[in-house]
Amino acid sequence: MSVKKGRVFSGARPTGRQHIGNYFGAISNYVKLQEEYDCIYCIVDLHALTTLETTRDLKQNTLEMTWDWLAAGIDPQKSIVFVQSMVRQVTELHTILSMVTPLGKLTDLPTFKEKVRENPKNVNYGLVGYPVLMSADILLYRADMVPVGVDQAPHIEFARETVRSFNFHYSTDVLIEPKEKFTDFPKIMGIDGVNKMSKSLNNDIEIAATATETAAKVMQMVTDPARQRRSDPGNPDVCNVFSLHKIFTPPEKVAEINVECRRAGIGCVDCKKILAANMNAYFAPLRERRLEFEKDPEGTWDILQQGAKRASVIAEETMVSVREAVGLPAIRKD
Ligand code: SF4
Repeated sequence: MSVKKGRVFSGARPTGRQHIGNYFGAISNYVKLQEEYDCIYCIVDLHALTTLETTRDLKQNTLEMTWDWLAAGIDPQKSIVFVQSMVRQVTELHTILSMVTPLGKLTDLPTFKEKVRENPKNVNYGLVGYPVLMSADILLYRADMVPVGVDQAPHIEFARETVRSFNFHYSTDVLIEPKEKFTDFPKIMGIDGVNKMSKSLNNDIEIAATATETAAKVMQMVTDPARQRRSDPGNPDVCNVFSLHKIFTPPEKVAEINVECRRAGIGCVDCKKILAANMNAYFAPLRERRLEFEKDPEGTWDILQQGAKRASVIAEETMVSVREAVGLPAIRKD
């Protein structure tokens, strides 16, 4: 058995069925990382509580997301896959870390200010402490690395500062500073061609959509806005359909489309049909596997419970050291 390079932690909010932006931005990377690292993948449902108006769909969204993860190849035999709220120690560590985190630092964060702007009527206590809970997730499982895009690097820096603050405050070294692992993935734009693909903007294509649903979404995609008529030459460089061809279509065909579009040799409808067919072929095996998981929701909850059990062992080890460092009494097991 090969020796793994360290422990990776990553968490994602339970947003339900995943879209191709989620797939190429996170999931496919999660699958690859499993081969080299001990990976812990967590569905962070407690984080979701900070902004949800209702929790009615929370469990179903957790299941839907898990099905996409498992069908994509996240393997619960290789990685720990679980739900954040199933491991209670995270809330304990969150509380303890919140005591070494200055309030002003949290309210000054651009992400907090953005959330306040987005939803001024629901500025709750949990929202302020969001980065502390995020740090608790990473530190509880003693992750060496967290896969992030460049824009998320400040979150990891925040976690490192939290470690330094805690370790200094309690004259200890029990918490480990995590490093970011930058991931190189294509930015997937939504079908509007303007914004990043996002469920909330309703510009997404779900990876588990049917072939017909996928084709319908692709047909709605915005192309080169300057190309008004079939006879107009197009510019693939400004067309989101072409960007997706680069992911789903064989290079020879991409090169051909590049030429034909510029001389109006191919129309946008035909170009989109090719993309939809290739996208459907790409996701067909994943969709088949997903159907199998969907048949057994209880089995999926079992997988998540088993993952939580494994995660709890690591979490409790950390908390034993943390409680001791803080000066809290040990909790007896009997
Ligand atoms: Fe875009 Fe294809 Fe239309 Fe060219 S032919 S503008 S690449 S959809």
